[in-house]
Amino acid sequence: TQAFVDSPYVAQMKKVTWLLYDHGWDERNGGNVSYRLTEDELRGYGDVHEVNRVIPIKFDASELAGDYFLVTGTGRYFKNVRDFPERDTGLVRIRKDGHSVDLMWGFSDGGQPTSEFPAHLMTHINRLKQDSKQHVVMHCHPTNLVAMSFTVPLEEKRFSRILWKMQAESIVVFPEGIGVLPYMTPGTNEIGSATADKMNSFRLVLWPQHGIFAAGESIDEAFGLIETVEKAATIYTAIKAQGGTILNEITDKNLQQLADRFDLIPNQEFMHG
Ligand code: 13P
Ligand code: ZN
Repeated sequence: TQAFVDSPYVAQMKKVTWLLYDHGWDERNGGNVSYRLTEDELRGYGDVHEVNRVIPIKFDASELAGDYFLVTGTGRYFKNVRDFPERDTGLVRIRKDGHSVDLMWGFSDGGQPTSEFPAHLMTHINRLKQDSKQHVVMHCHPTNLVAMSFTVPLEEKRFSRILWKMQAESIVVFPEGIGVLPYMTPGTNEIGSATADKMNSFRLVLWPQHGIFAAGESIDEAFGLIETVEKAATIYTAIKAQGGTILNEITDKNLQQLADRFDLIPNQEFMHG
């Protein structure tokens, strides 16, 4: 059998946490990632089948009982994960009671899942209802998007249309737009269930004055959503720095043409100003 630390799951986790750090989106311990894995996907690894520790969680995740999550640890620095994956990430299995998890691997110095685990697991629950291939939830602090949450009204239609119109790729990558919450306290069950509610219709949710949540079938999809949104926010910021006057734009008609070309059904509520 193989060691789990050498699995493609840990390899992807190491790579993406480094990228998130290197992009400047996860200073210090900022950000968290969870990757849902099934019993089948873990079969070939010899060191993930015994419970090392039981860790309580403060909400009910019983809908996910038996599912495994490779998740970053609370307080852990993304710049360090690639050097210390077995310390700074852990593989947990949700217990039947829903209020605790079995630690199967990792968190080797006594660590625990991210403080945003409620938002992650509640998001997995709701996204799985939309997409049975849902596997990844990712949270980070992308600078330009967070800055926009100080200067743009916190309305989903406003945000989505601005981001769609900053580059041709936006509507192709997130045709449903972006969900927007009011400012809320991080790490709470309340922000978790509010995020998961939005995830019924979006794969991206903005946490104003804080960051973003993304959900996807893979690490690449979740990271790609965030990259695309943050690129749009960076262009928006550059436009404002150039004086803010838009002479040439992506029109509503151009948005429809993109949707037609790529066979997408964009969020109809956001298609006209
Ligand atoms: P954790 O260190 O608990 O993952 O928290 C980081 C963060 O970004 C909270 O929103
Ligand atoms: Zn955060």
